[in-house]
Amino acid sequence: MLAKLKDIFQDVKEVGKKNLVLLGNEAIARGIVELGVAGVFTYPGTPSSEIPTTLFRAKDVLKQKGYDLYLEWSTNEAVALESAYGFSFSGLRTVFICKHVGLNVAADVFLTLVNAGVLGGLVMIVAEDPEMHSSQNEQDNRWYTKLANIPMFEPSDAREAKEMLKSAFEVSEKFETPVILRTVTRIAHSRADIPLNPITNPNIPEDMKLKIDPSRFVCVPGNARQNKLRILERVERISKYMVGSNWNRIEQGKKQEHAIITSGSAYAYTREVINHLELDFPVLKIGVSHPFPKKIVGDFLKVYSSSTILIIEEADSVLETFVKKLSFEENFLGKIIGRAEGITPPHGELTTRKLLKGLSRVLNQEVSIPSIPSIEGDLLFSRPPVLCPGCPHRATFYALNKSVPKRHRIVSTDIGCYTLGASPPLNAGHLVICMGSSLGIGSGISQIPNQKEPIVAIIGDSTFWHTGLPGLVNAVYNNSKLLLLVVDNAATAMTGFQPNPGEKLSIAEAAKGVGVNLVTEVDAFDPKSSLEVMKEAVKFDGVSVIVSKGECRIQFVRREGLPDITYLVESSRCVGCHTCINRIACPAIMWSDQKNDKGKVIPIIDQFLCARCGLCSEVCPYGVIVPKSVKEVLGE
Ligand code: SF4
Ligand code: SF4
Repeated sequence: MLAKLKDIFQDVKEVGKKNLVLLGNEAIARGIVELGVAGVFTYPGTPSSEIPTTLFRAKDVLKQKGYDLYLEWSTNEAVALESAYGFSFSGLRTVFICKHVGLNVAADVFLTLVNAGVLGGLVMIVAEDPEMHSSQNEQDNRWYTKLANIPMFEPSDAREAKEMLKSAFEVSEKFETPVILRTVTRIAHSRADIPLNPITNPNIPEDMKLKIDPSRFVCVPGNARQNKLRILERVERISKYMVGSNWNRIEQGKKQEHAIITSGSAYAYTREVINHLELDFPVLKIGVSHPFPKKIVGDFLKVYSSSTILIIEEADSVLETFVKKLSFEENFLGKIIGRAEGITPPHGELTTRKLLKGLSRVLNQEVSIPSIPSIEGDLLFSRPPVLCPGCPHRATFYALNKSVPKRHRIVSTDIGCYTLGASPPLNAGHLVICMGSSLGIGSGISQIPNQKEPIVAIIGDSTFWHTGLPGLVNAVYNNSKLLLLVVDNAATAMTGFQPNPGEKLSIAEAAKGVGVNLVTEVDAFDPKSSLEVMKEAVKFDGVSVIVSKGECRIQFVRREGLPDITYLVESSRCVGCHTCINRIACPAIMWSDQKNDKGKVIPIIDQFLCARCGLCSEVCPYGVIVPKSVKEVLGE
């Protein structure tokens, strides 16, 4: 059962409740208010989004408790980290949250501010997505810790994630450094029994005075050199401080022919597997992976010098690299087995089954691998992700396909729900790389000599504000020739409907403001008018912008409810041309078992899926998809 907001943020002093089953991200949100954090800065991204979303939804609940939390949906991760950094000069506890690729967006500010350090506690919660359930790359941000010289805490489950947050703040405040708390999808999105501690309201002074030392924080070369020395010395001090921390610990085992070193989420899989196989191996669990805990790893290698060391980690071979390097320095003569020997897969998420297979391989023994219970019949079948019924992007791409033929165009698209439009039959996308890249890539393609196909760049409203705007300025400045199609659904829908600057700012006005001479707003649900505008805009000699406005249907229906008019195929008149299915692929339109007089199968509209947008009735060339009152059709 899902926890209710008032339960997540209950005051344990009042109700005396001590434990609650929470999602990993909810547990972290709870931890944030237990620790008296005053400012949270973020750009939404899966699998981190539920942390700020939970806090955002709870703002009133917290306010009633006198807890004044500043929560900012920043325009992108770089701005979020800059703002978090600025806020942390208050000395108040501050949190920055992003998904793994968000750290790339913030990398410039990140890699310099870490040198200058912080004056108040600043924890960066970075959520990774091994297996790329909802991401464009699989990136192991542990590599960043070496580059940035920043401490990293790696919880192995939701409970630890909340507990480590406290230690992360302690290290941040003691050593004046930002600290990363690294989670992964399975920690963020799994549930666990979480002990609750009292909520601590931030202690905000009546008269806030800031003291910012320019000799440290103005990062010109002379000061930056001093900061570099300071950070090297700081890492050494943190390294010593972490010796003896229970986050890095040896768990004894009786069978000593093998000994395991593991960290973060991989620890949970390791425990499950060695318990299942009754392999009582000693385990070195690393919870703080940077600064690399040389002392405890060195001790472990010495104690188990005659054992084979197994390294179990998720994502890249980061731990393995550092352990092997240390083993040379320590003259360790035993064998170290890691990813190269096949104990863990070279890519993707680690699972219990994958680890069982890996262990079976390296231990050279048959192990029983529990089978996944199969579901009888055809209840589960694989299907590609598709745009929702009633999605305005479907209508926009339908108009685009009618106005700019698919065979004669290059479409550079971007990150958001609309990326799904790249699939057939809409085919609205030849390439997508990262947030905001559609404009830069489209602009570059438009500059290729003798390239004559029209270029269309597609971007969503939130992504436009995130990192699209500089690409638009660049395209205008460099006289590129392309059509920018902004699919404005008035929501950051893919990550859970977080607000974005489009609530207050106009994309069309911004485009005009940076010098675009042809800017038009169209109604996404009026494809006939949109396609005429698109036909003209794509011929424009320069940058043209069309903002196709149509609210996300889910958001609309949640607020307004479904319209009273639905749509129905008049099967007696339908000629079975399949245009409605082949052109727009709305999941609510499907084949029936009826045939027309030419033997063609007739489609039907699933009234429980249909979002009543009316696009299909525009698309049907024979006008046989007709509006009907819901009462008439469903008897509601
Ligand atoms: S487009 Fe119209 S005529 Fe063609 S199959 Fe669909 S409902 Fe029938
Ligand atoms: S009205 Fe047509 S296009 Fe819109 S959701 Fe229903 S079936 Fe799909």
